[in-house]
Amino acid sequence: MIQFSLADLSERPADDPLGRPSMGWREGMSPEIVYALNRGCWSLGEAAEEHTVALFASTGDGTVRLAVAIERIEDAGEIDGDKKRAVVGTVLRPGHPVHDRYVGHRAPEQLNVTFRYVTAECRQVEASTGNVCTTGAKWIVTPDDGPEYIACGHHVTAPLGGSVPFRARPMR
Ligand SMILES: [Zn+2]
Repeated sequence: MIQFSLADLSERPADDPLGRPSMGWREGMSPEIVYALNRGCWSLGEAAEEHTVALFASTGDGTVRLAVAIERIEDAGEIDGDKKRAVVGTVLRPGHPVHDRYVGHRAPEQLNVTFRYVTAECRQVEASTGNVCTTGAKWIVTPDDGPEYIACGHHVTAPLGGSVPFRARPMR
C-alpha cells in the first residue's frame, strides 16, 4: 500500500498541474472530493506502480480519511522542475475490507514524509495459538457467501470453513 499524508485544506498555487483549486482535507468533505484534491501531485517513482491500494491519512492525528483501489499511476506535470505523478483509481466504500479496517482509524504508520510504502497486516487469528498474524496481507479474498477479507498467503482460506468457494485478487 501507499500511505499519503493529508494536510488540512489549503489553497493551491495557480500553476498546479492538475488545476486543483485546493488540496488537503477538512471535516465533512466527501470521499470523491478528497480523492480529486489529493490524488496528485506526488513525487512517486516506479515502485508506486507495484501497489494496488492507497491510504490518505491526516498528518495531525494519523487518522485515515480515504482509501483508494489504484488502477494506475499517471504523470501529472512538473512543479519547480520536479516530475509529479498522480493516483488514478476507485474510492473504496464501506464493506470493502481495506476501507473498513482503515478509514476513520489509525494509519499503519505516523508519517513525517509526504508518502511511504506501508504494509497491511493480515490480522487473521491462528486457530492453533490464538495469535493474530502480523505478516503482510497479499490477498483480498471474496468468499461466495460472506464478507470480503484480507489475508497473507498462508491465511487465504483461514476464515473459511470446509469447502466454501472463493476468489482472491492480489493486494500490494
Ligand atoms: Zn496471515
